[in-house]
Amino acid sequence: MSTQRGNGGTQEMTSSQWIDMEKQYYMFTVRRQPVVLARGEGTKVWDVEGKEYLDFCAGWAVDNLGHSHPAITEAITRQASTLMQTSNQFYTLPQLQLAQLLVENSALDKVFLSNSGAEALEGVSKLARKYGKKNRDGAYEVITAFNSFHGRTMSMVAATGQPHYQEPFQPLTPGFVHVDYNNVEAIMEATTDRTAAVLLEPVQGEGGVIIPSPDYLPRVREWCDSQGLLLLLDEVQTGFGRLGTLFGYESFGIEPDGMALAKGLGGGVPIGAFMSKDQCMALEPGDHGSTFGGNALTCAAAYASTSYIIDNDVSANARRMGEYLRDGLEGLKSRYSFIADVRGLGLLMAMEFDDNISGKVVAQCNEEGLLLNPVKPNAIRFMPPLNITPAEIDPAVERLEAALKAVSA
Ligand SMILES: *Cc1c(COP(=O)(O)O)cnc(C)c1O
Repeated sequence: MSTQRGNGGTQEMTSSQWIDMEKQYYMFTVRRQPVVLARGEGTKVWDVEGKEYLDFCAGWAVDNLGHSHPAITEAITRQASTLMQTSNQFYTLPQLQLAQLLVENSALDKVFLSNSGAEALEGVSKLARKYGKKNRDGAYEVITAFNSFHGRTMSMVAATGQPHYQEPFQPLTPGFVHVDYNNVEAIMEATTDRTAAVLLEPVQGEGGVIIPSPDYLPRVREWCDSQGLLLLLDEVQTGFGRLGTLFGYESFGIEPDGMALAKGLGGGVPIGAFMSKDQCMALEPGDHGSTFGGNALTCAAAYASTSYIIDNDVSANARRMGEYLRDGLEGLKSRYSFIADVRGLGLLMAMEFDDNISGKVVAQCNEEGLLLNPVKPNAIRFMPPLNITPAEIDPAVERLEAALKAVSA
């Protein structure tokens, strides 16, 4: 049913020939699905043979408006023929317009634009160190959570609380202390004179879609206030409507002192940002910079995507469609006893199995025409475009069911 062909087969080479090219030329650092994508539109993508898939990976929670959204492609086309890259010695309009949009729609006062999530988190970590130096007698430690994910640069590998990302790269950047997620007392116990900040994901995404209890972030907020610590949020995956609110912190009723953004910010172009409240903006001229950060092209795309999300309240659609998808997944859970759990917030969701079958399920979903992420050996992750409709969720749940049937047969 899902193997319609002839829609996008623009390449003459077959998928397996392209995959052979990878083996010859590309560093093997990521295990990929054997799917070679050629084209996308909305929630659908087509491989080089023209097979159609529903894309519930959406570029790792990046394509919040789906593929090739006209508002974004129009902005990119217009800006590409106007002005793309200048150095940050000069001002450009798209950068300032995006900065204004982000500040006026968030609880933060200032923004710095980067090129990726890890880079944004490097920036906010530098801010924390400088803040500690100035305001907390040289304190420099950042408390982060086990099972977190903050990116792949050397310092973000140190911040990420998962040993398997760290062990090959010892010695790690010092200054990151890990505690259990969703445990305020653990943060209290880890706080010392050396602590400058606490850095958390509002929901742990790569860690398997772990939702903290509703009072976790509010209580961490109280603790940070009582101790003079910065509360920094990694909103790289949760920002721009993913959890059903424009920023994840709104879902928990708190405001951070600083946050990192990326993924959904650019609607498909590489851009990140970190933001700060004025009272903890410790960085000064010369402390930070970037050649490409705040580039006019990526800023124009990010402005188009973000203003569309805000103006059309796409976050509310993510909330409604999250509930709709959850109903579908709960229906499957009631029929297949090997489904152990369905959890999520907004359109960031996971299905957990009682065995390590996520690789098999995802492989079978590829066959059925549904792209998913095996986030853990026993769990798959759902992060479709946020403007998705029931007309796309229904066939996705059907394709997943067909895959579950095949895997359990
Ligand atoms: C993806 C991700 C990052 C890293 O972002 P990159 O753009 O890949 O550097 C950091 N934190 C979280 C929560 C993420 O999901």
